[in-house]
Amino acid sequence: MGEENVVVECRKCEFLESYANLGRARVALNDHEVGTGHDVDWQINHVADGVERAGADAGICGTTNCENPDSALFDW
Ligand SMILES: [Zn+2]
Repeated sequence: MGEENVVVECRKCEFLESYANLGRARVALNDHEVGTGHDVDWQINHVADGVERAGADAGICGTTNCENPDSALFDW
């Protein structure tokens, strides 16, 4: 399992909690909605490590800006 962080945020009050997994978040969200009638929003934040690494890897090549300027292809 990856390290997920689920943030539950109410749009109508100060309720804001983060949970380590989706199941707990759902329960808390439902509890709050049922208990208060509020409209609760939630979002899943994955730990940035893997995402940042993938982004950096993709940046090494694949865009014209990061081609090697010393390449013979540029010398013309
Ligand atoms: Zn609320």
